[in-house]
Amino acid sequence: MKKIVLLGPPGCGKGTQSKLLVQRNGFIQLSTGDLLREETSKKNSKLGEKVKNLMESGELVPDEIVIDIIVKKVEEFKNKSVIFDGFPRNLNQATVLDDSLQNVSINLDRVIFFEINFDILKERIEKRIKETENNNQRKDDNVETLVNRIEVFKESTLPIVDYYEKKGILSKVDGIKEIEEVYEEISKIIS
Ligand code: ADP
Repeated sequence: MKKIVLLGPPGCGKGTQSKLLVQRNGFIQLSTGDLLREETSKKNSKLGEKVKNLMESGELVPDEIVIDIIVKKVEEFKNKSVIFDGFPRNLNQATVLDDSLQNVSINLDRVIFFEINFDILKERIEKRIKETENNNQRKDDNVETLVNRIEVFKESTLPIVDYYEKKGILSKVDGIKEIEEVYEEISKIIS
């Protein structure tokens, strides 16, 4: 049973690829963004209240909150093939993930990093925002927070690429390519 991390900036296509891997390869997708949005949409959730503003401004929510959410899931799905989408997002989260996997005697198999030029990324995500303007449920998906989300990615998340490269489990895919081409690349990497 494989454990894979998909790593990349907002709009790089990791959500799309996660869904394909769920449909075609039987993975379970653990998206911290989705899990947190679930909390914020609940009525009377103290946790939801706490993270709402941070998410809407594109900042990271505190480590202990996401870690608590994800560690429970690691145990629950230890015997399944899992994709981590949106976690880890900084070095501390990366080491906590390693530890919690080790506690149940498993290791990460691969970390797939979506390489993409930041100008193309901005164009792509601005297009997505325009297309979904009227029915968009995500308050953080707008041009104002986009710049901040990319900055947060560069500052907090990019250092993890190095961390996994040193461990010898990093693979890169070209995020500019078509959806099916990227899927092919990922399929080869994880097979
Ligand atoms: P995107 O991939 O477009 O950045 P996500 O759905 O992955 O969107 O995440 C949305 C928001 O949820 C982030 O901007 C952040 O506020 C919060 N979030 C998600 N995952 C984490 C995490 N691992 N650590 C801290 N905050 C997180």
